[in-house]
Amino acid sequence: MDSDLPPVPCDLLPIRVNDLKQWDYCPRIVFYNTVMPVGRKSTVKMERGKEIEMKLDALEARRTLRRYRLSEGERRFHVWLNSAELGLSGKLDLLIVTAEACYPVDFKYTRERPRRNHVMQLAAYALLVEAVMKVPAPAAFVYLAPSDQLLRINVTGRLKGLVVSRLVAIRQMVQDGILPEATTVRARCEECEFRNYCGDIF
Ligand code: SF4
Repeated sequence: MDSDLPPVPCDLLPIRVNDLKQWDYCPRIVFYNTVMPVGRKSTVKMERGKEIEMKLDALEARRTLRRYRLSEGERRFHVWLNSAELGLSGKLDLLIVTAEACYPVDFKYTRERPRRNHVMQLAAYALLVEAVMKVPAPAAFVYLAPSDQLLRINVTGRLKGLVVSRLVAIRQMVQDGILPEATTVRARCEECEFRNYCGDIF
C-alpha cells in the first residue's frame, strides 16, 4: 500500500497517487483518508486483488515488450516512487525503462474501460516518474487482465496540467478541512467502505 512508503522530507503536504485517483471518483474518500482518517479493514476484494497481482506479475514477466510496441526495455515490478518536488508518492505495478523514456503500467482486474479517475492515476504516475527518474514518460499503459487488453494512454501536457490542478485542490481541501461534495454517481456509494460516514446523503 502507498502508506508503506518511507517519508521524504518535503515542504508540501504529501499526497499519494491513489488520492488523485479517488479525487475524481469521489472527493469525500480523499477527505476520509487524509483529514479524518478512519479505521479501514482489509476487505475480501483487497485480499483477492493481492492474489491476482501475483499471478499477473508472473504472466507479465514471461512476455516480450512487443505488445507495448517497444523494441527494448527493462521491466521493474512494484516500484515505489516519492517526489519531494511534487509532494507526491505512489507504487507502480510495473515500470518499463528504456534508453530514452519510462512507461508506467497499471494492472487492473476489471472488464470496464478506464474511467477518468484511472486516466488521472496513470497521468499522475507519469508525472511522478518524470520527476524522480528525470526522463520523459510520454505514455502510460493499463492492462485489463480479464480481457487481456493493453491500452495506451498518451500523457499530454494538458493531462499533466490537470493532475497538477488536482494536487492544488486536494491540498486546499486538506487545509480547509471541510467535507467536500459527495459524488453525484450514487451507485458508487453502494459498496463504499465509507458509506457509514456519509449519512447526510442517504
Ligand atoms: S459513500 Fe458515496 S459519497 Fe460517501 S465517500 Fe463513499 S462514494 Fe463518496
